[in-house]
Amino acid sequence: METSDNIIYHTYHFLDKSDYICRTLKLKNMRKLLLSLIFTFICISAINAVEFDKYFENRSLRMDVYHWGDSKTSKFILDKFVIEKYWGGSKTILLDEFNYGSYMVKVIDAQSGKTIYTRGYCTLFQEWQTTEEASKMCRCYEESVSVPLPKNNAIIEIDERNGDGVFEKVFSAEYDPKEIYNTPEQRYDFPIYDAHVTGDPAKKIDIVIIPDGYTTEEMDKFKSDCDALVDVFRTFEPYSSYLDDFNIRGVLAPSVESGTDIPREGIWKNTIVDCHFDTFYSDRYNTTESYFAVKDVAACAPYDQIYILVNSTVYGGGGIYNYYSVSTSGNMASAKVIIHEFSHAFAGLADEYSGDVEYEEYYNLKIEPWEFNITSLVDFDSKWKFMVDKKTPIPTPTTEKYYDKVGVFEGAGYTPKGMYRPAYDCMMNTFRGDKFCPVCTYAIIQMIEAYTK
Ligand SMILES: [Zn+2]
Repeated sequence: METSDNIIYHTYHFLDKSDYICRTLKLKNMRKLLLSLIFTFICISAINAVEFDKYFENRSLRMDVYHWGDSKTSKFILDKFVIEKYWGGSKTILLDEFNYGSYMVKVIDAQSGKTIYTRGYCTLFQEWQTTEEASKMCRCYEESVSVPLPKNNAIIEIDERNGDGVFEKVFSAEYDPKEIYNTPEQRYDFPIYDAHVTGDPAKKIDIVIIPDGYTTEEMDKFKSDCDALVDVFRTFEPYSSYLDDFNIRGVLAPSVESGTDIPREGIWKNTIVDCHFDTFYSDRYNTTESYFAVKDVAACAPYDQIYILVNSTVYGGGGIYNYYSVSTSGNMASAKVIIHEFSHAFAGLADEYSGDVEYEEYYNLKIEPWEFNITSLVDFDSKWKFMVDKKTPIPTPTTEKYYDKVGVFEGAGYTPKGMYRPAYDCMMNTFRGDKFCPVCTYAIIQMIEAYTK
């Protein structure tokens, strides 16, 4: 019987779907498959053939918007363009290969009409849209997208998935490099703590750690918490095997007060990015709506991912795809929360649990969700079907026989019926097993490879 360790071993060595398929198919199919793979590779290379130096400068353009609406409407207002001194992203993979996220930012060269940059992401606003409050009133959230700085006039477009899961344009604004109000002002210039720096930001996954609720006197504690965060990545596979593909830097940004807001207990702290528990009345959900402040602090270092470390011993956190991750630093379970939340934010993984709260209509079961590690079985071919043994039934019974198998287990994404997860247990489900299932492992490795090409 194949153990989950064996499955994970195989997954590490099958770094992409093509390779995985190659090694598991009979030899007679190999030649045909290889030819098709070469063709696919050429196509992908052609799609991504945007020359960075032709279109972009090695800095970031940040577009700040206000995103407002209720449960059914979603509208945007432009606030400002900010020119930032670092670009931490890839210079080779400029067009998003994953098609993950509920939103997609696009940069379109105004003169040629060519799309020169795309990236998927999610927002806190869309989560608020699933709350009861959103069925009764409108609210407004700060949002911000960062793209490489265009050399010439460019359209910055935001697309949103409609009810059928298809991206539609919902907002655009033209960036004109000659516009005098594009501000190069950097609000902060805090020193940086290099917790784990291995090379060129363009070839690495750059995580910027923002301290929330650490006072000036607590900056040494923050540095040791940054070191502890690096140790978390050193502990959990597949991150530990790829640790040298990461740069991890802390911004030494002090808060006026120590700690974090806990509204249910009447505790309020004056902190630099204003994180709080009780987001949407969920005790352990710690987030911030002050997204412009988050981006202002993050701008002190090159980054792909923002990690907010909250100075608290209370259990909790949150992670939103290509938006931010949040966790507290001093809870016994912090290591697992850190790696779980980061995997939402970095690899776009969904929660694999059904949840205490059933979010009706959180997912439309008539379409395939975009997250790789859950499926409604509407289009399972696009997910991990290639990793399921032919003898494993679909759906897969939650019996001991299948505890260590890759399968299709009912109950995932806060949805007890009609949504399925790939493993009996996983770090995206409970923290009992201390490891990611083979499907999440595969998805994380795919994302690491894309950032480091
Ligand atoms: Zn998983």
